[in-house]
Amino acid sequence: MQLTRLRLTGFKTFVEPTEFLIEPGLTGIVGPNGCGKSNLVEALRWVMGESSFKNMRGSGMDDVIFAGSNERPGRNMAEVALTLDNSDRKAPSAFNETDVLEVTRRIEREEGSTYRVNGKEVRARDVQLLFADAATGARSPALVRQGQISEIISAKPQSRRRILEDAAGIAGLHSRRHEAELRLRGAEENLTRLEDVLGEIDGQIDSLQRQARQASRYRSLAADIRRAEATLALIAHHLARGQEAEAERALEAAVRLVAERTGLQAEAARHQAVAAHGLPGLREGEAAAAAALVRLKRGLDELEAENRRARQRAEELDRRLGELQGDLGRQESVARDAAESLARLAQEDAALAREGEGSAGSAEAAAALLAQAEAALAAAEADHGAAQGALSELAARRGALER
Ligand code: ATP
Ligand code: MG
Repeated sequence: MQLTRLRLTGFKTFVEPTEFLIEPGLTGIVGPNGCGKSNLVEALRWVMGESSFKNMRGSGMDDVIFAGSNERPGRNMAEVALTLDNSDRKAPSAFNETDVLEVTRRIEREEGSTYRVNGKEVRARDVQLLFADAATGARSPALVRQGQISEIISAKPQSRRRILEDAAGIAGLHSRRHEAELRLRGAEENLTRLEDVLGEIDGQIDSLQRQARQASRYRSLAADIRRAEATLALIAHHLARGQEAEAERALEAAVRLVAERTGLQAEAARHQAVAAHGLPGLREGEAAAAAALVRLKRGLDELEAENRRARQRAEELDRRLGELQGDLGRQESVARDAAESLARLAQEDAALAREGEGSAGSAEAAAALLAQAEAALAAAEADHGAAQGALSELAARRGALER
C-alpha cells in the first residue's frame, strides 16, 4: 500500500485546497521557517486518526481549522484527504475492493470529525486499523516528527520496542488484540448481565405461571359470565316483552279512561258553566244572608240584653213579691187582729148593751168605736185586695218574662 496524494482544504495554513503528490522515490519539502512543513506531516497524522489535539500543537481539535490571518477570515471546516494505492490489495477486507482508497477526515467547528473511506462514512477505529495494518498511523514511529530522533535515542526500551514492532509489521495485530480483548470483555459483561436477567426471569416464571393460571381461570369465568349475562338478557327481554304487552293493555285502558274522563270533564265543565251562571245570584243571596245573619246576631244580642234585663227585672219582681207577701202576711195579721178586736168589741158591745140600757152615752161611745173598727177593717181588706191584685199581676208578668 502506497501513499500517493495528500489533499488539504482549510487545514492550518492551507486555507486554499492544496494537493501534495507523493511520487515514487524520495519526496522532499523545502521552505523557510513557519511556512507549514510540519503542518503537512500533522495533516498526514490527523487523517490517519490522531485523537490528541496536543499532538496537533493546539489547545483543542478545532485549532486545526484555518484560524484566519490579517487578510483572510477564518474557516469553519477543515478537510484532509489521503489517497492510497491499493493495487496489491493488502487493505482490510472491508475496504479491499478497489485499487485506490481515499481516506478523508473532515472537521467542523464545534461539531467534531467524521471519517470516510471512498465516500462511505466509517469509524475512526476502522481508519486507524487500516493504517496500523500498513505499519503506519498517527502514533506510529514510522512517522518521525520534528525533534523526534533525539527523543528515540533517549527513549526507554518500552518505546523502542514499539518501533521494532512497527518495523516488523505487527502493530496492527496489537491493535486488533486490544480490540478483541475489549470485545471479549464486553461479551463477558453481556454474559454476566444475561445471567442476571436469566435469574430474574427464573424468579418471574413462578409468578407468570400463577398469572397464566389466573388468566385461563379468568377466561373461563369470563365465558361463564358472558353466557350467564346472555341468559339474563334473554330473560330480561322476555320479561320486558311481557311488561310491554301489559303496558300496552294499561295504555289502552288509560286511553279509554282518558276518553271517559274527558267526557266527564266536559260534562263537569258544562255544569260548572251552568253553576257559574247561577253564581252571581248565589253571591247576592250570600251577601243578603250575611246581612241577615248580622241582623240576626244583632237581634240576638239585643234579645240577650233584653233577657238579661228581664232576669234582673224578674229578680227584682221576686224580691218585690217577697216584700209584698211579707206585707200580705202583715196585713192578714192586722186583719186577724181587727177581727179579734171586732169580736171583742161585739162582746163588749153585748156587755155594754146589757149594761147599756142604763147609759145611752156609753152606747153612743161604743157605736163610735165600732164604726171606727169597721172602718179600719174595711181599710185593711182594701189593702189586702190591692196586694192580692198586685201579686197576681206580678205572677202573670213573671210567667210572661220566663217564656
Ligand atoms: P520550522 O521550519 O520552524 O519547523 P515549519 O515550516 O515547520 O517551520 P510549521 O510549524 O509547519 O512551519 O507552521 C507554523 C505556522 O503555521 C505558523 O506560522 C502558524 O501561525 C501557522 N498555523 C498553525 N496553525 C494555524 C491555523 N490553525 N491557522 C492559521 N495558521 C496556522
Ligand atoms: Mg517545522
